[in-house]
Amino acid sequence: MSELKVLFATSEMAPLIKTGGLADVSGALPAALRALGVDVRVLLPGYTPVLAQMSQHEVVATFDDLPGFPPARLLVGDTATDVPLLVLDCPELYQRAGGPYQDTGGHDWADNARRFALLSRVAAILASGESPLPWRVDILHCNDWQTGLAPAHLNLWHSGTPSVMTIHNMAFQGVFSAHTLEDLHLPPSSFGIDGVEYYGNLSFLKAGLYYADHITTVSPNYANEIQYEALGFGLQGLLTQRSEDLTGILNGIDTEEWNPADDDYLAKTYSTARMTGKAANKQALQQRMGLSVDADVPLLGVISRFTYQKGLDLLLEIAPRLVELPVQLVMLGSGEAGMQDAARALAVRYPGRIAAHIGYSEALSHQIEAGADMFVMPSRFEPCGLNQLYSQRYGTPPIVHATGGLADSVTDCTAETLKDGSASGFVFSGMTADNLYATILRAVGVYRDEKQWKALRKNCMGKDFSWQRSAEAYIDVYRKVLER
Ligand code: ADP
Repeated sequence: MSELKVLFATSEMAPLIKTGGLADVSGALPAALRALGVDVRVLLPGYTPVLAQMSQHEVVATFDDLPGFPPARLLVGDTATDVPLLVLDCPELYQRAGGPYQDTGGHDWADNARRFALLSRVAAILASGESPLPWRVDILHCNDWQTGLAPAHLNLWHSGTPSVMTIHNMAFQGVFSAHTLEDLHLPPSSFGIDGVEYYGNLSFLKAGLYYADHITTVSPNYANEIQYEALGFGLQGLLTQRSEDLTGILNGIDTEEWNPADDDYLAKTYSTARMTGKAANKQALQQRMGLSVDADVPLLGVISRFTYQKGLDLLLEIAPRLVELPVQLVMLGSGEAGMQDAARALAVRYPGRIAAHIGYSEALSHQIEAGADMFVMPSRFEPCGLNQLYSQRYGTPPIVHATGGLADSVTDCTAETLKDGSASGFVFSGMTADNLYATILRAVGVYRDEKQWKALRKNCMGKDFSWQRSAEAYIDVYRKVLER
């Protein structure tokens, strides 16, 4: 088959603009696909920081008369990424201070429906025979609700090019009131259960899931879980109906950015052959975060959005019991005010034993992965999760709830799994504070056995989480869709 041409439409992409895991995927998967010979180009909104990081741009298309939208242009230019980018420049919709989805006060932009309807619309046009570019697309690959209307447009207004819709998190659906429909150039006939309707409203994600030729999500276990009520967010019926067209593919990680043997953020680099550097990172982390410097006490790390999804409330609840064990705890993240306050209060109450950094820090996130002994991720649900993958690569066994991609990527440490070399962390079922506590206790027990701990760390660091494996699975999906 000749070279596959894929348009990858996304609302964020590392290192240019990032709020979460979607940016990591958009930064890495297209590059991995290109390495395997796929001609993939990324469509991304021209947010202020994206344009600021772009030099020598050239206008390759203009969209002056899309009904309901301000004039927009498509730019190509040089950025820090090697993957060809198509930047959708529309100053009225994308150039503003604040994040991709929210203003500086943390409120959703009031015109998000219009902002991402434009992204979807342009994605569909570029993938169709009406594209102003000479480049012809074989597959349109959409990601999350922000590009969910694109498969609908391809079906309703254009035809031919198949689309794949990837769900990175079902919790975010892009639901807007029904009257938004007309402003977004969707026909009234599309507003129904067999279309873009979601319980009387318009759902961008539902549109993508209904109209895309194939659906993927970011772990096999999550692909199964979203077909049931607990995690289906009202779309379990549709997903069950489409289960033949639904594939779970575990995300990879950027093994160059996340490499303990070559990481500029670390006090000392290390590898399986030279593990001594890990202790230097623990010491540096304890110093930086104002924890007592103690090589012996197990140090637990957390890097997370502070939200209900991530289950940090359970960890905060048992923190006073944990310090008695003793263990130390370092937390990095931001989110719900109540959780931030609780984390800060714990740090004040247990100086030297608990530290919290409220905010975002790329450097500290690497230092925690390297310096902590264990990484805690008790998510209530987790489509894939990245930090448990990073932590394994850094020889920091994760302690996780058995859900989504956490269950797919971490093998619980037992006598058997230690023996067969598959153990890579600690997994608990039943989302309660006591279960989390018992599992941390179990992890501390293994930590105290030097031989077992060494073996566990070695297993973690030997695992292959490279993007190549995942990219091959996406290519299989593309081929399957094209053969249909
Ligand atoms: P989600 O996308 O649900 O937030 P993931 O585990 O899939 O969770 O990805 C989170 C990504 O964001 C990871 O790359 C993680 O390291 C990073 N991250 C989250 N919070 C912070 C923070 N406060 N500082 C630095 N990096 C963070």
